[in-house]
Amino acid sequence: AATVWVHDFHLMLLPAMLRARSADLTIGFFLHTPFPSSEIYRLLPKREDVLTGVLGADHVAFHTNDYVLHFRRSCLRILGLRSEPDAIEHDGRRVGLGVHPIGVDVPRFTALLAEPQTDAQLAELRDRYRGTKLVLGVERLDYSKGVPLKLDAFERFLAQDPSRVDHVAMLQVLVPSRLGHGDYMQLKSRIEQRIAEINGKFGRPGVVPVQYMHRALTPHELTALYRFADVAMVTPMRDGMNLVAQEYVLCQRDLHGALLLSEFAGAAHVLSGAILVNPWDIERTANALGEALALPADEKRARMAAMQRRVEEMPCQLWAERCLAALRDAANRRRAERGEPVDDAVLAELTRLGRSAPARCVFVDYDGTIREIAQRPESARPTEELRALLAALAALPRCQVHLVSGRDRRTLETWLGDLPLYLCAEHGHTWRTPDGQWTQRELVDLSWLERVREVLLRVIEDVPHTFLEEKATSIAWHYRMADLEYGTWRARELQANLEQMLANEPAEILHGRAVIEVRAAGVNKGTYARQMLAELPPDTLVVVLGDDQTDDDLFRAVPPEAFTVQVGNRRAQNARFTLPTPVAVRAFLHRLCEAWR
Ligand code: UDP
Repeated sequence: AATVWVHDFHLMLLPAMLRARSADLTIGFFLHTPFPSSEIYRLLPKREDVLTGVLGADHVAFHTNDYVLHFRRSCLRILGLRSEPDAIEHDGRRVGLGVHPIGVDVPRFTALLAEPQTDAQLAELRDRYRGTKLVLGVERLDYSKGVPLKLDAFERFLAQDPSRVDHVAMLQVLVPSRLGHGDYMQLKSRIEQRIAEINGKFGRPGVVPVQYMHRALTPHELTALYRFADVAMVTPMRDGMNLVAQEYVLCQRDLHGALLLSEFAGAAHVLSGAILVNPWDIERTANALGEALALPADEKRARMAAMQRRVEEMPCQLWAERCLAALRDAANRRRAERGEPVDDAVLAELTRLGRSAPARCVFVDYDGTIREIAQRPESARPTEELRALLAALAALPRCQVHLVSGRDRRTLETWLGDLPLYLCAEHGHTWRTPDGQWTQRELVDLSWLERVREVLLRVIEDVPHTFLEEKATSIAWHYRMADLEYGTWRARELQANLEQMLANEPAEILHGRAVIEVRAAGVNKGTYARQMLAELPPDTLVVVLGDDQTDDDLFRAVPPEAFTVQVGNRRAQNARFTLPTPVAVRAFLHRLCEAWR
């Protein structure tokens, strides 16, 4: 299968779109920006879509562990998904998580450093800044880069000792970015105004404390500046990684400079020899600039050499290899967890067995298995093609077709009632034979239900953002929207209470993903299948197709030699085979119909 590696926030919806098209693609996602804390992230109106979009991938990677933690916590709080440190379970799939800090193009900068044009630029800089220490800032014109805060700090630094202008200058390079956007134009004016203010206040004829360029540099200009500058001041408010910091370190061939770095840049996790600052703390950032300029030469050398080694060891080429290796592992693991594909050999086997078997029995789930999931349940009505397929299967000799669904009896009756099918509604609570005779499960004792409802209603009052779901023979408390720790704590307590309360009742407690469900014991799709198979000869050929958790009961209820097929991307824990989509299921049933005719 092909591999698609999706990059950055613009394309966060793409992995799930690709996954919907092809269950078999290998999909990676890398976020180059920070992932915010869940407390911020959950403000987004489209927060679910963006998370599930990313979770279409096999492997999702970030620059730092913080971003992974924030992403995991957002998935837990907003989608109620369980996770391990290195993976999230979503849609029956395991989505791997990784920390892969990007590196710089080391060969490119090494080559640039050796070129004569760079030397020429360097000579000019040495000439121009004789006797002056240069503080360098290079960033795209972007609000996240914190240039106004940096200017505040530099202003404070000069105010601490105005004579500093005689031997320290700042050069701020702003690379044009998104100028069509009003906010960026405003930011540009604001920065230019601040620079003018500082120069107006501290400048003199021939002395310009803050020099400024609003253009892209040539590679040689940039490389020479990196090599020459005495301090690089990289103080973004937020930055996924920040390559400028790494490039500066790499180009410091004389090991004479110092790096002043915001602790909110991903680079702070990589460059341990930097002087870290909180850019919002103007006073301390100004002090730190003074310290950086005053560091003894041997300390600067030691710090810079250690950082340089780190940058050289982790070029962006190696980063890409590692990301792709992690992606391959994740995809292989997902494939290994799925069942065998239903291929021609499987079909040949089914054909052979189907001819000799005394009876043939197909259990098929509806939504997500034989019919695509629709936006609204009521729009997933069967097409004529699907109805014809089911009718043809059911018309085969020695063949029973059971449509086994969680839907209510009325819907199934309306959509499929005229076909010679067995219809099983509400997860096995009620069913009918092809002659139209409905039966309701007898002896379902629901006397415990009211007591359980009372208990759950009290819990809802205590734990905000939790809710009840009520079905014919079950009741469930969902806490996926609740505060994670509090929800989990109360869930454990609730489970213990319910176990005690229902010890002698015909009810079972299921603790699922952020949900506690209490249901009548023995009412599920599996009970239905067992009951139906009991009426058939023991060597009946059984085929089961299903897609979700409720179908696991079906898979488990049938004999081990049955042809159990997990549909979709879910891990096949209880099924032997797998088919990717409802389209594939219908194609398979068409072929089976031909073969058994
Ligand atoms: N850069 C550039 N032209 C310039 C100055 C810088 O292309 O005139 C490059 C710089 O070498 C670095 C990138 O722009 O590789 C900026 O990357 P960074 O991670 O620091 O910030 P981003 O712009 O990605 O937010």
